[in-house]
Amino acid sequence: MNPRYLTKSRFKLAHECETKLFYTNKKSEYADQSLDDSFLKSLAEGGFQVGELAKYYFCNDPVAENITIDTLNYEEALQLTADKINNGFKVIAEAAFRYENLYIRADIFKIDVQKKEIELHEVKAKSYSSADKFMSADRKTGELTGIKSAWEGYLMDVAFQKYVLQKCFPDYKINAFLLMADKDSVATVKGLNQFFKLSKDGDRVSVSVDPKLTRDKLGDKILKSVNVDDEIQWIWTNPVKTKFKEGLKFAEYVEMLSKSYQDNTKLVVPIHTGCKKCQFRTDSQKADEKALKSGFTECWLHATKLSQQELQKPLVTDLWSFGFRGMSGLIDSGIYLLEDVTGELITSKTRSGANYPGLTPLERRLLQIEKSKNHDTEVFLDKEGLKREMETWTFPLHFIDFETSRVAIPFHEGRKPYEQIAFQFSHHVVSADYSIEHKGQYISFEPGFFPNYEFLRALKKELENDEGTIFRYHNHENTVLCEIYEQLENDPSNIPDKSELLNFIETITHKTDKWTGDRDMVEIQQF
Ligand code: SF4
Repeated sequence: MNPRYLTKSRFKLAHECETKLFYTNKKSEYADQSLDDSFLKSLAEGGFQVGELAKYYFCNDPVAENITIDTLNYEEALQLTADKINNGFKVIAEAAFRYENLYIRADIFKIDVQKKEIELHEVKAKSYSSADKFMSADRKTGELTGIKSAWEGYLMDVAFQKYVLQKCFPDYKINAFLLMADKDSVATVKGLNQFFKLSKDGDRVSVSVDPKLTRDKLGDKILKSVNVDDEIQWIWTNPVKTKFKEGLKFAEYVEMLSKSYQDNTKLVVPIHTGCKKCQFRTDSQKADEKALKSGFTECWLHATKLSQQELQKPLVTDLWSFGFRGMSGLIDSGIYLLEDVTGELITSKTRSGANYPGLTPLERRLLQIEKSKNHDTEVFLDKEGLKREMETWTFPLHFIDFETSRVAIPFHEGRKPYEQIAFQFSHHVVSADYSIEHKGQYISFEPGFFPNYEFLRALKKELENDEGTIFRYHNHENTVLCEIYEQLENDPSNIPDKSELLNFIETITHKTDKWTGDRDMVEIQQF
């Protein structure tokens, strides 16, 4: 049986909700939707590439220099790490350390035995710019008030690792860093991304690297190590934000989680707005097939005293686009079922609907509640509202859809991490007689070619022949075109049709405080 170690991923999970620690790593007992979440997986895969590139910033050739501990076996990894340190290795990737039942794998571990100093670099496929701040401060006094929520997960993670390392190396000074994609940097070599190709072997994703690749072929650095020792000190010395018990210092918190995981006991926290996205929920059919239990149901049965049958009804967490504060108010007042929500309870929590066409958000929520009470599953169509809206459209109607990519390690020389790459669009047209046509498309297949300007030229060609209304789904198409605008504007090379292209983007998009095009695309997600 595997030892019940509190690893960094379990620590991070527990920090989201301490009860989750009980449900995790029980694949054959509890449903866990995060195991099937392809989006999370693909994000993690981006992290693999960044992790592999990072190794080259610490040595010339990580493969030849054999710095990586590859095994997933806990004890084997610990032994191999200890062997490398004893053999004088100064840099180890994915180094394993254990203190009692706390267990970590450090992305990059650098040790100076003479000086008794260690560097811990936690690699994150996240973008960072020198203007980013990890901590918030009081506007008047400038006094630091806490870690910004956007960074909390990352910093808690590295705080946990530094804590474990400090326990393993009590005589060493440990400096901790987040190693991230530097938004201010530019790739100075062609095809940087493709030096690190993702490959899959069963469930395991790995990165294959050309054995001849060395540091000098990778150009300027596009990753940056940012020291986070001050932030960690803050985390260690101030009470941890926890749902289970207030006032715990970091060490006490780690001790509590460690014991709970080791003993397989449940830390029961009050149900909360975060339950809406809890991964330990059954996904009807799938769970039934495998007879998996739902952690969500266990938590809500315990907290609400509703029956199993009542819990099958729509819950307040299902209320359409309702803010966390409002939802929290409902849960705290003991209102769990959508059918028990009244207009008075949500009216003051709903923003004015002045900018919405058709139903206001409040009307939409009240309708949802009404339908829930009446077990009415019929689709609602606001015919009058839709008619009013359609009267503002000009035929032929153009529907465009973009496929884009935004990766940490750029594909192209001269581009920054996480820059927008637009490589495909489709264009459908609805004519005045309501006939539908797949009018055109663009796709770039050419490896190493930066497609954005050709993409834009092709789009212009598709849309410039009439004044028909253009539709987009949500903000994506507007965001992409505004980003291409910036790329074009800042491009020092000679682009003969630059001003025409910029003008075209201004005509069909909007940018806050800058422009609103005469033919600004209509957003259909809001309908
Ligand atoms: S249902 Fe809520 S309380 Fe239970 S584990 Fe999930 S998030 Fe935590």
